[in-house]
Amino acid sequence: MPNLFDSEKLLFEPTTPNPDAIEVIFAFPNTYTVGITSLGYQVVWANLATRPEVEVSRWFMDGHEPIPREPELLAFSFSWELDFVNILTTLDRLEVPISSQTRTDDHPLVFGGGPVLTANPEPFADWFDFILLGDGEDLIGNMLAAYQTVRHASRAEKLHTLSQIPGIYVPSLYVVTYASDDGEITSIQPIDPQTPATIEKQTYKGNTLSASTVVTEKAAWENIYMVEVVRSCPEMCRFCLASYLTLPFRTPSAEESLIPSIDKGLKVTNRLGLLGASITQHPEFDTLLDYIARPEFDSVRLSLASVRTNTLTLKLAQTLSSRDSRSVTIAVESGSERLREIINKKLTNDQILQAAVNAQAGGLSALKLYGMAGVPGETDDDIDRTIEMLLTLKKTAPKLRISFGCSTFVPKAHTPWQWIGVDSSADKKLKYLQKRLAPKGIDFRPESYKDSAIQAVISRGDRRIGRLLRLVYDYSGGEVPSDGMYKRAFKELRGQIPPLDRYVHQTWSVDRILPWQHIKGALPVGTLLKHLETSRLLIA
Ligand code: SF4
Repeated sequence: MPNLFDSEKLLFEPTTPNPDAIEVIFAFPNTYTVGITSLGYQVVWANLATRPEVEVSRWFMDGHEPIPREPELLAFSFSWELDFVNILTTLDRLEVPISSQTRTDDHPLVFGGGPVLTANPEPFADWFDFILLGDGEDLIGNMLAAYQTVRHASRAEKLHTLSQIPGIYVPSLYVVTYASDDGEITSIQPIDPQTPATIEKQTYKGNTLSASTVVTEKAAWENIYMVEVVRSCPEMCRFCLASYLTLPFRTPSAEESLIPSIDKGLKVTNRLGLLGASITQHPEFDTLLDYIARPEFDSVRLSLASVRTNTLTLKLAQTLSSRDSRSVTIAVESGSERLREIINKKLTNDQILQAAVNAQAGGLSALKLYGMAGVPGETDDDIDRTIEMLLTLKKTAPKLRISFGCSTFVPKAHTPWQWIGVDSSADKKLKYLQKRLAPKGIDFRPESYKDSAIQAVISRGDRRIGRLLRLVYDYSGGEVPSDGMYKRAFKELRGQIPPLDRYVHQTWSVDRILPWQHIKGALPVGTLLKHLETSRLLIA
């Protein structure tokens, strides 16, 4: 059988581990194809593989490298909420108890990092011995250095030492109390005075961001070399985790960092992906485009993450189509200018039309738009504005294939709308959009409303949700759980945890103690509240 790892081309030199190196299994809770396409996973793997004090083995759901019999550390890169089932499957397969409370000194320390855990680790608190919050660049080294000092100590002492490192959260060292079994949180406190009361998410301040450390034909985008052009986004749309969780906006120098990195990748492949929440806002983006447009890169296939609509210029469209890209993606959220103002999306319908005109004139054949239903303050009229805008777009740029991907608004921790519930009529709105858009030749791609509701349970969940997820895992037998399994689990735990509606649809009072209250995000809560208030005034 061909090995999953056979076709990898490495862009770094792994080190030979020391004889007494710390044996680490580094897992991605999905298939190899999905995991190896995660830039975060690649970069952390290379970080571990270049340290002589570590011997790392990779683990995916469909294959793994030779793994140690008694690993000291078991790490997870967690970037999609619904992969939690695969985390539990991995623990079971490796015969590691799921609950951290029942692990002994003979078991590895289980830790994780990535956007899901950084946003709200609480639903998973019982499964992880410790969690890395924020950017991994410095945090991994700091964690390993601290671990080395207590490597042969008891589990409790190791965890205590790790909890002293900024950005490392040890859930078992915090006690959460509730007004009643299914009531609100009344306090979140460290168990002793030595444990910090709050844990600060870490922000990497260096000038170089991430780039692929491996290229393979088995990646979801075959042989792609990825470069992170920016981190975070300065726009601060009020729902957006990609912006608020990772602020400040960081832009490495084109000359010193991005261009050398692109050169390195293009020596091993001709497929280039530029990543980041808002890449066209990099102050030197034009320099980068000019560089990629050079004749020596004629055979390069360029893919971009979604671009900000008002930066989709003719030049960008021409560069993309000359570099074998046929489509471009823009996130417009809505066709209603009123709603976009509520969101804090600084964009007009004229700019959206101009983007389509530029895309067509530049030789692209498709335009993918992203939007959202159930945005706070949204009315039926706003949905009609979206339909109107898409139909106008189709008339204005008739040669473009237009698709409209539409999700449901889900409240995310550390954003100004973390207190606002999911709109229960969003499902109806998605169906209405489908009915109106499909006959007009617009490819409408709704995300599942039910999946959004589950995401909301996880994104606003407290520690009690861990019990629910565990039950869902048991029902599912390790397969993708159905929506009915979550409902069944809520029913079974009735009276022991709050009902589904409280996590998903209810708008929470701003005085409430949030499950992630003890985790310090990029912005103070006061700033989030100001944004919330501004949006509420616009809605009124
Ligand atoms: S422009 Fe996009 S990435 Fe930036 S804050 Fe808005 S939704 Fe998020």
